[in-house]
Amino acid sequence: MFKIGCHLSSAGGYLAMGQTAVSIGANVFQFFTRNPRGGAAKPVSREDVQAFRAYAAENGIGPILAHAPYTMNAAGAEERVREFAESAMRSDLERLELTSGALYNFHPGSHVGQGADKGIGLIAGMLDRVLRPDMSTTVLLETMAGKGSEIGRDFGELRRIIDAAECGGALGVCLDTCHVWDAGCDIAGDLDGVLDLFDREIGLDRLKAVHLNDSMNPLGSRKDRHAKIGKGKIGFDALVRAINHPLLRDLPFYLETPCDLDGYRAEIEMLKKARKD
Ligand code: FE
Ligand code: FE
Ligand code: ZN
Repeated sequence: MFKIGCHLSSAGGYLAMGQTAVSIGANVFQFFTRNPRGGAAKPVSREDVQAFRAYAAENGIGPILAHAPYTMNAAGAEERVREFAESAMRSDLERLELTSGALYNFHPGSHVGQGADKGIGLIAGMLDRVLRPDMSTTVLLETMAGKGSEIGRDFGELRRIIDAAECGGALGVCLDTCHVWDAGCDIAGDLDGVLDLFDREIGLDRLKAVHLNDSMNPLGSRKDRHAKIGKGKIGFDALVRAINHPLLRDLPFYLETPCDLDGYRAEIEMLKKARKD
């Protein structure tokens, strides 16, 4: 089954997100666990989660993907920055246990001049303090564009986080098509080659979700500016090959394109038409 959805506002709670997803033809969705710029998380209502779970089961929704705030930097140079990252992730994962079986995606972090080795160690250390073996949520490292000092600019850096963390065996990866393109992986010209590299460096069994975005910038630009599907440098045909690729087609795809709900509805419809069954 084609699992396709997009990023939704979490302001109305879980049931509202499920209903919005269905109204635009989606069967998966992503949301921020809290204001993406940081700050406190809204309390989760158990009634809302219960109503959502029933609704999701009835309508075949899932898996849901929670996205950590993008200001979170586990590899920061300042202790207060790292402490925010750790406490935000800890409380996000605690709240996510209510919606058991979710995915939780985060940007590994930026080493801000300390060097990738140092950054990777800090990220792995935080994960080991926060993850618990009995958690039902799968934590995903997102592939990054490599803007500034971002860690995760190539598959090898994600592999090194997995290897450095004692909990590494539990970690998955979310592949963002805009980010890997901006990082220099030619998914338009050689998707097979990129997936082969992913398999060798990380292992395709770790790949749990795809962020489906076009990119405003050329291959290797390291910019991270998402474009609407077919309106960027990756192009519609390449993204259609991605949703149909035998190694990707069973994964959930989440749009993070610069769209309002009507725009997302149109992109979902377009992609469903291009999906081969
Ligand atoms: Fe992201
Ligand atoms: Fe993304
Ligand atoms: Zn991005």
